[in-house]
Amino acid sequence: GVNLQIINGREVSNNIREDLQIKINELKEKGIVPGLSVIIVGENPASQSYVRSKDKACKKLGMKSEVHSLDKDVSESELLDLIEKLNNDDTIHGILVQLPLPAHIDEKKVIEKISIEKDVDGFHPINAGKLLVGEDTFIPCTPHGIIKLIESNDIDVEGKRVVVLGRSNIVGKPISLLLLQKNATVTICHSRTKNLKEITKEADILVAAIGKANFVKRDMVKKGATVIDVGINRVDGKLAGDVDFEDVKETVGHITPVPGGVGPMTITMLIYNTVKSAMKVKGGK
Ligand code: NDP
Repeated sequence: GVNLQIINGREVSNNIREDLQIKINELKEKGIVPGLSVIIVGENPASQSYVRSKDKACKKLGMKSEVHSLDKDVSESELLDLIEKLNNDDTIHGILVQLPLPAHIDEKKVIEKISIEKDVDGFHPINAGKLLVGEDTFIPCTPHGIIKLIESNDIDVEGKRVVVLGRSNIVGKPISLLLLQKNATVTICHSRTKNLKEITKEADILVAAIGKANFVKRDMVKKGATVIDVGINRVDGKLAGDVDFEDVKETVGHITPVPGGVGPMTITMLIYNTVKSAMKVKGGK
């Protein structure tokens, strides 16, 4: 079979965090402490766990980190007022609203309330538009993390056939744009795609971001392909990706494991964006 290479997201993530630590220390010497504010509404256990991890990671690097936990019944206007306050708070360089939000709150309104200068998730339509036209912006964290994994493992993108499974604004669309910018030939698949298997089998690089445990099987991948598994699914209390790792491992070339692949990169790139925002602050000591 092919010599399987497992892409180590924890290692790549740690290396980037070491570089960020240096930048954070330099900023602090100038009197600027990079600050992230995370808003969470309600008690979704997965969301709570993500928010705790983000808070912990920021604090470990000596950043300012604050979490605003709002009741599930909080009104939309109260949430918008809090964002307004944080937009005007000079100690906060990044604002993130943990999704999903309860049904009575308009997600679009909330995202559009965040200052584009503090939108470290990169979900504001202006920042998403900048990504589309290739302007400097906050790149969404998970897709940005995938690019870093690909680069640090010397995986060639130029001229390659890339297939992205999933077209969400959070993962599928932005990773497709980023790989297009790196001169790949990109095909995006979704739930209405016909003959999916025939398309995925053509991929030199296959990105799976659909949220269906172990969906990608051996007969869907090309021999020696790079497979990026973005999925985080819970099956019988255990984490599973969107790719059936055991089934494809004899066929593929590179693969990201779940856990330990894409997952660890997301928070690292969130910190990256917050530090990037703090570096734009004029003045300091
Ligand atoms: P969404 O649910 O927003 O989007 C899923 C996409 O997959 C949709 O475009 C949908 O198509 C498509 N899809 C669903 N079923 C199929 C199918 N059978 N065949 C082809 N396409 C299909 O998910 P996200 O993009 O937010 O997340 C995807 C996965 O990545 C989830 O498991 C999530 O937990 C994980 N994730 C992991 C992160 C990390 O840090 N590692 C961060 C963010 C997400 P359609 O548009 O037609 O409905």
